Amino acid sequence: MLSIKNMNSYYGPIHAVKGIDIEVPDGKIVCIIGPNGAGKSTLLKSITGVVHYTGELHWNGTDLSQAGSRKVNKEGIIHVPEGRLLFPGLTVYKNLQVGTISWHGFLGRGSYQEDLRMVYDLFPRLEERKNQYAWSLSGGEQQMLAIGRGLMARPKLLMLDEPSMGLAPLVVADVFHKIVEVNQKFGISILLVEQNAKMALSISDYAYVIEQGKIVLEGDAKEMQNDPRVISAYLGVKEASVDVDKEAVETKTEEG
Ligand code: ATP
Repeated sequence: MLSIKNMNSYYGPIHAVKGIDIEVPDGKIVCIIGPNGAGKSTLLKSITGVVHYTGELHWNGTDLSQAGSRKVNKEGIIHVPEGRLLFPGLTVYKNLQVGTISWHGFLGRGSYQEDLRMVYDLFPRLEERKNQYAWSLSGGEQQMLAIGRGLMARPKLLMLDEPSMGLAPLVVADVFHKIVEVNQKFGISILLVEQNAKMALSISDYAYVIEQGKIVLEGDAKEMQNDPRVISAYLGVKEASVDVDKEAVETKTEEG
């Protein structure tokens, strides 16, 4: 379980994250929704130590406050950043190999073949395109590759920043199906940051709403879908989205 208490993050004089408390229980999907510039990405960057913060970060009982990226990654907290940040001039396979650095310390030697198999089984399209450069993939394939690279790092908690960004609605639905599959099949906890509130709430167990650096609302994700405050601020305008039937993904996963 990830537990954050009283996190504050700054960019010089800009106070981007203001005293935030959040929890991600083991094996759950938790989402953080909110408008542009609310501090969602900063929160994830703070957790991985990319942005300096004050406050407490506990992970399965271990104090990782201000522990730094390397330690946080080694503990299994892996960040799939906004905009994917792939290596465009490397092949799909090489991008996946890069994901092993956080647990291996160097590229490409060692027992990562099983992890690669797992990623290819989850994303057959990546195996078909393993020798293709990352720049030549479609947006959806690039997002799958970013998630696959994250999985190669052997996460216990995968933090996904705006996986729907720039994708067509049907492709977003595909990506969100895969996120549920990662959670259900491998028991990996997910912390999801999204502007597409409808999609995020549809697959999450618990949700936080963040505005201007503060948590303004939190609760069960299903209940939040019916909360008039959330509907008027985030669900009122018809978003480009396709429903993900989480139950169907779960059943399919159980059946193998
Ligand atoms: P979006 O969904 O648009 O990415 P967000 O909720 O993720 O928004 P953040 O990117 O965390 O928001 O930004 C929070 C605040 O911090 C914003 O006011 C933003 O302008 C500011 N900010 C973010 N990155 C920097 C930076 N590198 N330097 C200075 N200010 C920054």
